[in-house]
Formats: sequence, structure tokens, C-alpha cells
Amino acid sequence: MSTSKVCFRNLLLQDTVARQLSHSFSRGRIAQTYLFAGSESTGRLPSAKAFAALLQCAEPLAVDGLAADACGACESCLRIAADSHPDVTIVRPDGYEIRIDQVRALQDAAALKPGTGRWLIFILDPADRLNQSSANSLLKILEEAPSHVVFILIARETGAILPTVLSRSEIVRFASPAPSEIRSTLAEKYSLSAENAAICCSLGEGRLGHALLLAESSLPEISNSGLKYSHTDYLNTIETTSRHWQEVFAVASSLEEAMRLAALPCREFYAPLLASRKEFCRSLLMSVALPVSFPIIFADMLIDRLDSAVRAMQKSFEPLFAEAKKAYPAAVIKDLDGAISSMLNAWSGQQLEELLLCLLNWYSDTLKIACGADETLLLNLDRKEDIITLAAVDDITLLRARIELVEKSAGLLRRHVQPALVIENLITQIGGLEP
Ligand SMILES: [Zn+2]
Repeated sequence: MSTSKVCFRNLLLQDTVARQLSHSFSRGRIAQTYLFAGSESTGRLPSAKAFAALLQCAEPLAVDGLAADACGACESCLRIAADSHPDVTIVRPDGYEIRIDQVRALQDAAALKPGTGRWLIFILDPADRLNQSSANSLLKILEEAPSHVVFILIARETGAILPTVLSRSEIVRFASPAPSEIRSTLAEKYSLSAENAAICCSLGEGRLGHALLLAESSLPEISNSGLKYSHTDYLNTIETTSRHWQEVFAVASSLEEAMRLAALPCREFYAPLLASRKEFCRSLLMSVALPVSFPIIFADMLIDRLDSAVRAMQKSFEPLFAEAKKAYPAAVIKDLDGAISSMLNAWSGQQLEELLLCLLNWYSDTLKIACGADETLLLNLDRKEDIITLAAVDDITLLRARIELVEKSAGLLRRHVQPALVIENLITQIGGLEP
């Protein structure tokens, strides 16, 4: 008999969350709206699905110290695991945002009675991508929804949610596990060597879900190339990554499948890109002198590579669209084309955020060592020799200023300041430029 993995006892490093939700279920205290708040990749969606499975399960169990957990074997549990339960809907952004027409469709669906289950469950992932009008529209639905409807909103922080929505929600907080916890979990679950567990944790930038994805795929070779090669390697790997996704997209046989596939680059990780980015950041921080022209040349090349990567990925959907034009009205084609373009552009924006996160983690680790912390606290434990070298050179005040600079640059990117300028300015300030 097959059993599903979608249950609390299979969640990693979120015991408090599992106990909180399991306890409210067993006491029959189900809130109408939950806000699952925490950093990305801490298990918010798997937990939302495990909770939905518990609510709909035919035979919940008391197991592993939990008051109640989904059985994992009934039809309802299996359908939730396969994302095909008719009464559990996951609403994801259509392009960058969750748009008002998606929320309106949700309003119609929430007015119905559950088909097979006891509850109608809507998971909004992530709810911090609701825009002003879709958030207001959601509030009306929350106010009017019948008692068998449960909403689970997933968000990075409570501040990203309308206060009027927040005040109606039960908040479930997801803590970010420590790098050492991630490493030992990976080592145990996948029988990885300590060294490989450290590489997965480091390339995943300390996020559990990303590290798990990496542990499940093959690990890239980590090279120790010099600066001269590492920035070209990084730029070339952006191109390789685009080709990798084009091959994935080539199997799309319908527009629905194209939409599903176009969301993958933002959700899944292509390990060679992560490795080359890590290497680029390392060389940048370790370089003694860079040509003065480097920041501007690199920033321009980076943006240019990302743009061409997105264009090439989008082009791989063209044959499908040409075919679909015969069957669908022009307005539908235009809408879908726009949504795919928006998803691929979100990937490009994500690359810049990830680059900054990688730099930030190098600096944070260096600061930890400079402050005398134990090396097991390092996120980049696999690069501890480099971190120790950097910590011996840079003083604490400088490191704090660098961390602030990277955080400020991330803020500018979020406010849509021209990316090439942000990156150029950042590298000018952190790179040791030749006088
Ligand atoms: Zn079940």
C-alpha cells in the first residue's frame, strides 16, 4: 500500500509548528485563517499541506508524540500529496503577483460546499505577493466565508500582510534552523558525508528546503579558480542555466503545462549556477586588487546575460504559442504569454537577490569568526579556511559596514532602482580596486 509523505511526522526541523497545529486540531479549535510566517524554504508549504491533510484525513493518528497527524494512507491524504484534492486549492502568483481576478475566482470557489472533504482549504503561497486590490478583495472573502472554509496564508513576515487581515489570523511562526541543524539533518536523512552536507547547506545559503533539493540532486564540483576565471565562469553558467531550462521547457505540450514549467526556475535550483555564484563571491571578497573598470563592466555584462537568458527561455515556448494561436482567442494567448514572461523575469530578479544573499552570508560568517564565534556556527563551513583568512584581514567595524551596504543594495533592488547601477555601486565599494 502506498503512503503519502505529507504529514507532520515527516516534516524536518519544525517540531514546534507540528505540535501547535496538531494540538489545535485535537482540541477541535480550528481557526478560519492561519498565517504561516517565516523565511522562505523553512517548510511553510509542506506544513500547510500536512495541516490540510490532517483536516481532511479519514483516520488521523496519534503518533510520534503528536496529538494527531494525517494517516498518510487514505485516499484524501494521497490526493493532497499529489496536489489533486478537489477541496484543497493552492493559489500561486500568476506572474509576479496574485492578481485580483485570481482572488475573485477564489471567492466563487469559497462559496461552494466541500466536495468530498470536511473542509474547503485555500493555501495562498505566498500571500505577500497579493497586491493592494487583491488583498482588499481577500479581506472581504475572509469576512464572509462560511465556517467550513480554512485559509492558510504563507508569508515571509507578518508586516507584509494587511493589518485587517493579520488581526483575523492565527499566526504560526517558522523559525530558520541553524546551519549546524541543517547539516546534521542532511547527513542523517541522505547519509551524506559531513563534507557534502556542508556543501549543500552552503550552496543553499543556509535554507533548509534548498539544501534538501540540492542533497536530492547531484552535487556540483567546487573549484578553486581565481578571480580572472570565476566571474566569466559565473556569467557563462547563467547561459548554461538558461539552456538547461530550455531543455525542460521543450517537453511542454500544452499552454497549461507551459505555465507550470515556466514557474520552475524560480522554485527549483540548478546546482552549477549556485556553485559558480558562490565561487564568484569568494573571489570578489578575496581579491586584493581589481581593475577600476571591473565593477561597471561586470554589472553591465551580468544584466545583459540575465536578459538574454530570459529571452532565450521565453523563445523556447514560441512553437507552442504558434500552435495554440489556431485554437485560442488572441486575448487568451496574450494573457498567457504575459504571465510566462513575468515568471521568467521574476527568475532574473531572483538571481540578483541571490547574489546579494550569497555576499551577505560570506560577510556574516566572516563577522562571526572575527567576533570569536565557534566555526560550527558558520553557514559556509565548507569554506572555513577562506572565511578565517578574510576575518584576519577585515576588522569588525568594516564588516558591519559591508553587511549594511549589501542590505541597503537589496532594498534598492526591491524598490526597482536600476539593477546595473546597484550592482556596480556595490562592487565598487567592496572590491579592492587598483589605485
Ligand atoms: Zn489520511
